[in-house]
Amino acid sequence: MTEAAIIDGKAFAAKLRAKVGREVEALKSSSDFVPGLAVVLVGEDPASQVYVRNKGRATDEAGMNGQEFRLPDTASQEQVLAQVAALNADDAIDGILVQLPLPDRIDSGAVLDAIDPAKDVDGFHILNVGRLSTGNEALVPCTPLGCVMMLKDRLGDLAGLEAVIVGRSNIVGKPMAQLLLAEHCTVTIAHSRTRDLAAVCRRADILVAAVGRPEMVRGDWIKPGATVIDVGINRIERDGKTRLVGDVAFAEALSVAGAITPVPGGVGPMTIACLLHNTVTAACRRRGVARPNIE
Ligand code: NDP
Repeated sequence: MTEAAIIDGKAFAAKLRAKVGREVEALKSSSDFVPGLAVVLVGEDPASQVYVRNKGRATDEAGMNGQEFRLPDTASQEQVLAQVAALNADDAIDGILVQLPLPDRIDSGAVLDAIDPAKDVDGFHILNVGRLSTGNEALVPCTPLGCVMMLKDRLGDLAGLEAVIVGRSNIVGKPMAQLLLAEHCTVTIAHSRTRDLAAVCRRADILVAAVGRPEMVRGDWIKPGATVIDVGINRIERDGKTRLVGDVAFAEALSVAGAITPVPGGVGPMTIACLLHNTVTAACRRRGVARPNIE
């Protein structure tokens, strides 16, 4: 039996980041502006600090105007909202990302909905959620956008394929379902109350796992030849070492699937690349400029 192809998200993301860099160059010379991305970090969460640093580096490498705003862990909701309001009013800023999670006493929903929807490069504002689900032009959450880009690159036209998404979160599962529906897939969303999850998964030509449970999806849950997108990032101890694994039992899946994203090196790198892509999208739309035609 042939082994599944590995979908190299790292290489795909590097290509996308380079393309965004060329778009930024083109916008600088043709339209005389540099897309601006502001990242707001509240508190000292170590993982969030790493994410923010990586986003800053990628923004700089793409030649964008990246700005970071750090607020102390003690910041009040009003202070966070005031920061968002200042960025909404700043014409040099095209994209605003508030790093989640926010401290518990801050109402994340209220903060996300305070972001100007035209600058909402995470696609979490209720207006963008509504636009995506009604088939209108929207800014789309970065992780599912990256997954669909890789699927289209691998499979071409997705119309008519059976897609099963395990997980129904607002940041991955639900927007993933909307995007695949827009690609004319037949979409099933499974979750913790789904009966006979294995049988549901076995229907899938495209199986997306976004659960947060290490290696939950076993090899015999996968239809032979299916394309598997593993969104999960789980830290586990194995052989005395800390390792990152996905939601899919990768070694088992390799002998059944047609193609699969590895963890790490699959979906993860695409998320930041799509954030840069969304910032160019937001900048062009806000400024009424056509996106540069770059392949
Ligand atoms: P959430 O915890 O918000 O959602 C998990 C979903 O999985 C829920 O819908 C839950 O169902 C479902 N679920 C939990 N247990 C089971 C089970 N036993 N059987 C079936 N379904 C189950 O997670 P996220 O969507 O935020 O993230 C999912 C994973 O993706 C995590 O590992 C996260 O780290 C990773 N991630 C990776 C990103 C990247 O850049 N690569 C970006 C974002 C997330 P129910 O709704 O019924 O509770």
